[in-house]
Amino acid sequence: MFTNEYVNRVYQQVEHRDGDQPEFLQAVREVFESLEPVVSKHPEYEANGVLERLVEPERVVKFRVAWTDDQGGIQVNRGYRVQFNSAIGPYKGGLRFHPTVTESVVKFLGFEQILKNSLTGLPMGGGKGGSDFNPKGRSDAEVMRFCQAFMTELQRHIGQFTDVPAGDINVGGREIGYLFGQYKRLRDEYSGVLTGKDMTFGGSLARTEATGYGLCYYTQEALKALRQDSFQGKTVAISGSGNVAIFATEKAQQLGAEVVTASDSNGYIHDPNGIDLDILKDIKLGHRGRIKEYADRVDGAEYHEGCEGVWTVPCDIALPCATQNEIDQESARTLVANGCTVVCEGANMPSTPEAIAVYQDHGVLYGPAKAANAGGVAVSGLEMSQNSLRLQWTFDEVDQRLKDIMADIFQKSYAASKEYGTPGDLMLGANVAGFTKVADAMVAQGVL
Ligand code: GLU
Repeated sequence: MFTNEYVNRVYQQVEHRDGDQPEFLQAVREVFESLEPVVSKHPEYEANGVLERLVEPERVVKFRVAWTDDQGGIQVNRGYRVQFNSAIGPYKGGLRFHPTVTESVVKFLGFEQILKNSLTGLPMGGGKGGSDFNPKGRSDAEVMRFCQAFMTELQRHIGQFTDVPAGDINVGGREIGYLFGQYKRLRDEYSGVLTGKDMTFGGSLARTEATGYGLCYYTQEALKALRQDSFQGKTVAISGSGNVAIFATEKAQQLGAEVVTASDSNGYIHDPNGIDLDILKDIKLGHRGRIKEYADRVDGAEYHEGCEGVWTVPCDIALPCATQNEIDQESARTLVANGCTVVCEGANMPSTPEAIAVYQDHGVLYGPAKAANAGGVAVSGLEMSQNSLRLQWTFDEVDQRLKDIMADIFQKSYAASKEYGTPGDLMLGANVAGFTKVADAMVAQGVL
């Protein structure tokens, strides 16, 4: 399968050990395809067993979360924290609460996080966690009790210098608040152990906006360098309606684009006049409503059942901001057939391998998740810096640092694509640039 013997051998070991973890295997395969030329050029990586160690998490914690619902019934969920790699800093990565969360999903996310965090240039290792808890339809009191129960176990595994979780799907400011409160109560310690905190207790300005804004900064940088182009006058399709989608919409609009879609797990809206962001924010951030409500409130907007239909809407630029594998081969072909020439990923691994092959065959400018959506964790890193300094930077200061980090990620990836592959292959570039820093640190620190 792989031409490089070392890469092939390690991949087979992973398949043998984790053959029942499809998402994790998918993430490893994509990265390994990019690493063949690097490993060939650097025999020290094989000599130090870097790949074997990279694909095995340093620690996987799996635990019971028991809590009481509003009717007094006992509910049991499963919690996870994967502490994947700490070569360049404390484990860092979000928590996802969603019924699709399995060990495979948390491992793929944690594995991606190693390289993503490395790309930011900040000292953060890779980790991820979550639970199969479904917050949909749950009251605020139930979410609070779940978060408290989750943290009661998680607290013994994390700390400001060891492992710093944050949010991911369904874990936002509300959940981080409840998790932080419980950590503080149990540990009697006021520290930056979580990021994505509210501004009243150590959060960073621009953290909420960071992933979506960063996605647009990265896309803008890539458009400028590779196509002498920009967002100006472009039609943009965005999936999702969480923080990533909402703030990608906001920034794309500010950069002169027209965003025409949004979606949730039930369906999508198409607004040919351009998304009215105040209404979208009111629905999703104001009262946690469903996206369908948008079409009831905005003249000319249509609602369609089935979220994957969002990719049938013609666009110049697609920004998938919902979840993994949301663009399959067929959707990718439809996007390209309708004129889409740029896909940059706000969600983690939203394109299947077959979809990526379609982008490559058609010369689509493809910005992979670990580079394009790194703005979220980058500002988490800046939140850690501010917590350590015991001060708070202004919105503009954080936003400027975010812009610089996203431009740097693009430049590093582009340079690596020139050195090791096809110039402009930003997937290979991101994988290589993210990997070499971690690999060099692992070699330097010895076998452990
Ligand atoms: N969950 C986000 C991601 O996928 C952010 C993680 C963080 O801020 O630690 O990168």
